Amino acid sequence: HLNGKVALVTGSTSGIGLGIARALSQAGASVMINGFGEPTEIRAIQDELGAVYSDADLSRADEIEQMVALCTTELGTPDVVVNNAGIQHVAPVDSFPPDRWDAIIAINLNAVFHTVRLTVGAMKERGWGRIINTASAHSLVASPNKSAYVAAKHGVAGFTKTVALETAPHGVTVNCISPGYVWTPLVKRQIPDTMKTRGLSRDQVMNDVLLAAQPTKKFVTVEEVASLALYLTTDGAASITGANLSMDGGWTAQ
Ligand code: NAD
Repeated sequence: HLNGKVALVTGSTSGIGLGIARALSQAGASVMINGFGEPTEIRAIQDELGAVYSDADLSRADEIEQMVALCTTELGTPDVVVNNAGIQHVAPVDSFPPDRWDAIIAINLNAVFHTVRLTVGAMKERGWGRIINTASAHSLVASPNKSAYVAAKHGVAGFTKTVALETAPHGVTVNCISPGYVWTPLVKRQIPDTMKTRGLSRDQVMNDVLLAAQPTKKFVTVEEVASLALYLTTDGAASITGANLSMDGGWTAQ
């Protein structure tokens, strides 16, 4: 159903973003991928999806402008924008490094504003658009030692609602998806820090910290998140806007 449509997915060289880029590509979209990684791995993703790649660092507004310009030149103005790039840092607030705070707010929150600011005008003119923001269960509830991430994700949820109201009369929907713990490199990387700050073993972090929050006792899969993102691009989802859709194995129902 996305034949002839252009999709820009940020942070799509890995994890959830890569899963969403795959799903949108399989549905017919021309896809621009973005993110960091080994050049050979990025080329393999490009070959698989027939995708154009932007190496924009989303902590920088000027590079986001270049990414959107490249997408427009190579593929056309995006019809679907997935703001997914994100980073994490785990530390108590009194020892939280200010540069990590700034980076998390820049990539997880400010970049969403910049990408939307630069793409929503064309969607409104065309009378169709889909903006999907990867928020988190941490857009609804908090966990200790994640002050920057929780602040940024709550910000994404509020920003999503605001833009949804601004674009509702123009055929553009704006939603966020809020996964619980998804088994991706981002989650794997925070296990050593959580072991250190809480003095726990690897198994204890997996079962007593991460999956403790998730009544299903299972990690959400990348494919599950991608299928929800894909659904939001269908005609059946035309009236879903301004929503924060949880996919967290029951975490935030508690
Ligand atoms: P990941 O680390 O596997 O992927 C993150 C992607 O963002 C990568 O492609 C990376 O290169 C890119 N990225 C990081 N910094 C960037 C920058 N400065 N500029 C451009 N790209 C950059 O992580 P993931 O788990 O797939 O996370 C994707 C999104 O999902 C994030 O927004 C994250 O907060 C959110 N999320 C993840 C989980 C989870 O449990 N994994 C849960 C809820 C929400």
